[in-house]
Amino acid sequence: MSSANVEKARALADAARRVVVLTGAGISTDSGIPDFRGPNGVWTRNPAAERLSNIQHYRADPEVRKASWRARLASPAWTAMPNAGHLALVALERRGKLHALITQNIDGLHLRAGHSPDRVIEVHGNLHKAVCLNCGWNGPMQAVLERVRAGEDDPPCEHCGGILKSDTISFGQALVPGVIERAMRAAGEADLLLSVGTSLQVYPVAGAVPIARQAGARVVIMNAQPTPYDEIADAVLTGSISEDLPRICGIS
Ligand code: NAD
Repeated sequence: MSSANVEKARALADAARRVVVLTGAGISTDSGIPDFRGPNGVWTRNPAAERLSNIQHYRADPEVRKASWRARLASPAWTAMPNAGHLALVALERRGKLHALITQNIDGLHLRAGHSPDRVIEVHGNLHKAVCLNCGWNGPMQAVLERVRAGEDDPPCEHCGGILKSDTISFGQALVPGVIERAMRAAGEADLLLSVGTSLQVYPVAGAVPIARQAGARVVIMNAQPTPYDEIADAVLTGSISEDLPRICGIS
């Protein structure tokens, strides 16, 4: 994308005092974690994989659960490191401009990059924790993955025998009300909404963009592919997030 748009976005960030950032899978592709809907996305390459992200299929079909555990075991998220895009947002926080970082990502890379936890709102949960769908037990994912490595292809909850899953929100599963309310409230308080690496297809999270706009915020959208909200944005950037975000956040 033209550097003029990057400069415009940088000027908007320089002028802003309460930036709310909304991130999606696209900020983590340069850390080696594929997105769902991009050109190399998990679903673009294998549409059948969408079943693994649906809670009804997960609950009903042991084969879906076994495939999910195999996918979790092989996830690049366990070794991924934050990239220049994640680090640029930490710099924005250190400049005192970051009001909130709403992320749809489950990879934990924003926290790993060094944000204060109270600024980060993980609306779709975190892959590093496991939860029982029956009794609500939760604990470290790695301990459950050890059981999978040792041969249990669909490990049950050790307390009640229920179905275990990553503590993330699948399609068809309710969001945590307090978490999504906090995210939408923050969006309404922004003077700049920066949407980064999300196709803005998943609701209610995508609604953060029009909520901020209606409350008077400027809007910058960074995404390689078009989004439904490009028309209401002050600037749309389709270049590399890990290259452009450091510039916008004032560290390059
Ligand atoms: P998405 O797959 O729908 O969209 C990602 C967008 O990012 C795509 O439009 C793609 O063109 C763009 N993109 C990818 N890499 C880019 C780059 N380097 N520079 C610029 N643009 C880039 O992702 P979504 O909107 O986040 O929705 C998918 C859902 O799946 C989310 O709810 C999320 O929780 C989950 N998910 C999370 C991860 C993760 O935690 N890293 C990975 C895959 C999916």
